[in-house]
Amino acid sequence: MNAPHKCSATVLPDYHQPLEVRELDVPPVEDGGIIVKIDRATICGTDHHITLGALAPISKTPCILGHEMVGIIESQGKGREQDVAGTPIITGDRLIWAYSYCGKCYYCAVAHEPTLCTNFTPYGYADSTVHPYVIGGFSQYNYILPGCHVVKVPDEVPSHWASSASCALRTIMHATDRVGGIRPSDTVVVQGSGPVGLYGVVVARAMGAKNVINFGAPEARLQVAKSFGADAVCNIETTDNAQRAEQVMQMTDGRGADVVLECSGSHFAQEEAFQIVRPGGRIAMVGAGDPKPMSIPGMAFIGKQVMVTGIRSAGIQYYREALEFLAVQKNNFDFDLMFGDTYSLAEIPAAMEKMAALEEIKPIVDPFK
Ligand SMILES: [Zn+2]
Ligand SMILES: [Zn+2]
Repeated sequence: MNAPHKCSATVLPDYHQPLEVRELDVPPVEDGGIIVKIDRATICGTDHHITLGALAPISKTPCILGHEMVGIIESQGKGREQDVAGTPIITGDRLIWAYSYCGKCYYCAVAHEPTLCTNFTPYGYADSTVHPYVIGGFSQYNYILPGCHVVKVPDEVPSHWASSASCALRTIMHATDRVGGIRPSDTVVVQGSGPVGLYGVVVARAMGAKNVINFGAPEARLQVAKSFGADAVCNIETTDNAQRAEQVMQMTDGRGADVVLECSGSHFAQEEAFQIVRPGGRIAMVGAGDPKPMSIPGMAFIGKQVMVTGIRSAGIQYYREALEFLAVQKNNFDFDLMFGDTYSLAEIPAAMEKMAALEEIKPIVDPFK
């Protein structure tokens, strides 16, 4: 089966400009590349931040937005007969894939931190006038570059779930690993009840945390957090900082949280993380997007001997873990509680508005709708 030479995609012409559905070229596949038909994409909060220029100059315009997507293999270049785990892949299989990391820079080759690669090509914010043009999820077709590791989607994982695995869930897999995993004695506080925060709740619960506490809003999202296994929730619209801290202290014999996953990106929440973490605890800074800096006294680090780690995207192992997580846990949690309506390419601006208004948690995109 050959991919068409043209396809429709939702393009951000420039920062602060309205999105446009445009026709773009789909180039012929080269050795090591793969052309996929996008089955489903999902919208991430970062897509909105990109439209505002928050990722510039790493992001370029014009770009096809969307970095959470699942593609069905249409054509494969030579040398692309298996996924990153050695599973054979053929036409018709579904894939998710990481950004194209160079494998040669200091961060790829020496530090083994591909997400810090100094020579990478992202999906969802790369220049769509540069070959191979179709590298963003809000498009009918995508070109998977030879430098991208791919993972085959297990049959039992629906495409919209798998799509969310390629940003929201893989980021949480990365975060929980970087804080040393979740232990049976851990009380985990997840700040934020967007898609990343809700995945934080469900992963902490499934990994066996003693207590999981979610801070967020609105109430409907906190109900999802409860069905994902949160033992306690605090609505940030109706509680103050002292009340939330009291909730954490009550559940931890006055010590504080062993692990805090800060998924909201707000500087208030970042500051609060240092207040509610126990001495010697671990904080993962996952959320992003607040232009205001957090204000943390040095003694909050030193006096509490806190471990703090930033989480930027994720390497391919976490994409694979995310898919395995969904496959293994599919009967234990109703992941569909998190997903919204399905939108066409032209309806993406409306979907993003609903997301920003907190009416949708994670909208789905069907580029052929
Ligand atoms: Zn994202
Ligand atoms: Zn590199």
